[in-house]
Amino acid sequence: MSYAALLHVTGQINDLLNAASLLAWDARVMMPAPGAAARAHQIATLTVAARDALCGDATARALEGALREVDCTADTPEAAIVAQTQAAVAYHSRIPADLVQRRTALTVTAHEIWADASHANDFRIFQPALAEIVDLSREWADAAGYAEHPYDALLDMYEPGNTVASLTPLYAHLKDAIAPLARQVHGAAVPRHDFLHRDYPPAQQMQLAAGFAQTIGYDMGRGRLNLALHPFEISFGRDDVRLTTRVDRHDLAQGLFTTLHEAGHGIYEQGIDGAFGRTPLTTDLILLYAVGGVSFGAHESQARLWENQVGRSRQFWQHHFAALHDAFPEQLRDADADSFWRAVNRSAPGPVRTAADELTYDLHTMFRFEIEKQLIEGSLPVAEVRDAWNDAVQIHLGVAVPGDAQGVLQDVHWCTAQIGTFCNYTVGNVMAAQLFETAQAQSDVADGLNRADYAPLRGWLTDNVLRHGRRYDRETLLTWATGRGLDPAPYIEHLTSRFGAVYDLN
Ligand code: ZN
Repeated sequence: MSYAALLHVTGQINDLLNAASLLAWDARVMMPAPGAAARAHQIATLTVAARDALCGDATARALEGALREVDCTADTPEAAIVAQTQAAVAYHSRIPADLVQRRTALTVTAHEIWADASHANDFRIFQPALAEIVDLSREWADAAGYAEHPYDALLDMYEPGNTVASLTPLYAHLKDAIAPLARQVHGAAVPRHDFLHRDYPPAQQMQLAAGFAQTIGYDMGRGRLNLALHPFEISFGRDDVRLTTRVDRHDLAQGLFTTLHEAGHGIYEQGIDGAFGRTPLTTDLILLYAVGGVSFGAHESQARLWENQVGRSRQFWQHHFAALHDAFPEQLRDADADSFWRAVNRSAPGPVRTAADELTYDLHTMFRFEIEKQLIEGSLPVAEVRDAWNDAVQIHLGVAVPGDAQGVLQDVHWCTAQIGTFCNYTVGNVMAAQLFETAQAQSDVADGLNRADYAPLRGWLTDNVLRHGRRYDRETLLTWATGRGLDPAPYIEHLTSRFGAVYDLN
C-alpha cells in the first residue's frame, strides 16, 4: 500500500500547486490590480503547504514503503515517480526553511519595487532589491549544491543538465553563426511590412488567432483563450490547459504569432499521457509548480516549433494567407502569401527581448547569461549591472538602450528571483530546430505539412516528447527522437536558410 500512499500524497501536492496556478491565472487575467498583494500571499501559502507536505512525515513513510515495493531499476512510470519524489525531498531538505521564507517575502516586495523603478525608468530604485536577490540566490546555490559553478545550481532548477560548462560552448557556436548572418541581413533591403500595421479590429484578430491555434491542433474544448498583458500558457491538469495572448490594433503579426507560440505550449500540456495526471510526472517538485512539460527549454521548444519552424515558414502562409485575406481584404489588398511571409520574418535589432525577431533573439539571452553568471560568481557588482547591460546591447545588437525600462529593467524574471532561466529560450530554439529537422524527414509528417495537415507532425511530437510528461529528462528524449543530445547545427542551418530566403541572400 505504500506506493499507493505515495500517489495519494503527491496527488494532494499536485492539487495544491494546481490551485496556486489557478490563482496565478486569475491574477493575470481577471483580478483587479489592487488585489495583487493579497494574492501573492495566497499563492505563497499554497506553495509552502505543498513544500511542507513534500518534506513531511507522510511522504517519508510512503517513500520508504514504495522503495520496498517498486523495482527502482526498471524503466517504468512507477520507478520514475519514486525516484523523482525521493530526489525532490532530498533537494528541499537541503534548503533551510528560513531561506524559503525570505525568498518568498522578497519576491513580493521586489516586484513592487521593480514596477516602481520601471515606471520611473530608473535602475537605481531597483538596485538594492536586486542586490538582495543576488545574495539570496547565491545562498540558495550553496544550499542546493553544485559541482563546478554556483550558477549551475540555479540553471539546473529550470533545466536539469544546463551548466556554465554546457552553455558556454553552445552560445559561442551560436554567436559565431548568428553575428555575421545578422550583419548581412541588416545590410540588405528591408521587406515591405506596411500592410501589417493598418487598422485590424482586435475582436476579429482574436477570432482568427483562436482559429489558428485550433488549426495546428490546440484543443479549445479542453482550454480557452484570453487576453493578458504578458501572454502565457498555464494548465490545471491535462483537460484544462489555458492560453493567453495579446493583440495590437496596428500590428497584425503580434497576436497571430503570440497565439501560435502559446498554443505550442498548450499542445504540449494537452498531449501528455492522461494517466500521469496528479502524479510527479506532471508536477515539478523542485520548483513546486504543476506542469507536465519536462523542463523550461523543452516547453519552449514546443512553443518555438509551432511559432517559428511551422508558423513562420513559407509553406504555412502559402496554405493560410487566403484565410487572413478573407478576414481583412481591405487591409491586405496589396499583399500576397509571399510578401506576407517576408514581412513576418523581417529582422531588425532592438533593445527589447520580447520584441526581438527570430534572428536576433538569442543575442538577447546570450548577454543575460553572461551577466547572470558574473553576478552569481561575484565578478560583476550589482552597481555596475546597468552599464554592463547597456554595453552588451550595443556590442551584441548594435543599438543604444533608450532607458532602463527598455534596458536592464525590461524583464520581470529577476524580481521574482528567477536567475538562470533566460538561456532556456535559446535551448528551446535549438531543440525546436533539432526536433523539426528529424520530424520533417518522416514522409508522413512532410506529406502532412504539404497539405496543411498538422496531425502527423503532432503525432510524431506526441510519441517522441509530449506523452512522456516528466518521465524522462530532456537529453534522453532528444537522443531517442533525433539520435543525439542538444545540437545547435540544425538551428544554425535553419536560420541561415530562412533568412537567406527571406532576404534573397546568396
Ligand atoms: Zn514560451
